[in-house]
Amino acid sequence: MVFTCTQCGTCCMYMGDYIEIERQISQFEFECCSVSTGTPFIARVDDDKREIFLDRTWADQHPTTCRFLRPDGDLIRCTIHETSPPQCKYYRCVVMWVYDQTGAFVGTVTGNLSLHSDDRELRQCWQEAELKISHLDVDAEERFCRTLESKGYQVE
Ligand code: SF4
Ligand code: SF4
Repeated sequence: MVFTCTQCGTCCMYMGDYIEIERQISQFEFECCSVSTGTPFIARVDDDKREIFLDRTWADQHPTTCRFLRPDGDLIRCTIHETSPPQCKYYRCVVMWVYDQTGAFVGTVTGNLSLHSDDRELRQCWQEAELKISHLDVDAEERFCRTLESKGYQVE
């Protein structure tokens, strides 16, 4: 079961206070601090993301986001992926751990409400739920959770 980040950007939308830019070194290089651990790091905008980085329109419209987050087509991407701090690189946005009727672990659900599971029955159950629940509903996470529980799964 491999975690796949779909680059939805959700986990970085409120990181503006946690990834602090202390000094601009050059057009695409910044002295930064990962505030939660006090770790300094040098952020360098990835070569292939410089064009989207230069357009600050979206970032300015979303002041709580990390200053390195930018839209790119349908994706919302980190523009310093290569030099981002370890906390960002290893982050896994799991919001639900799913167990079957015997208590065996069968999958996870990530913050963008994507199921990650090798279990065929669970995947089928999730697909059926997706026909009834929009990911955009404010109570979507709770409704997915209740649906799984009604089918006998345990959700933590
Ligand atoms: S919320 Fe999850 S899927 Fe979306 S960008 Fe963050 S880690 Fe990736
Ligand atoms: S550095 Fe990248 S991964 Fe980390 S919070 Fe900012 S945009 Fe997200």
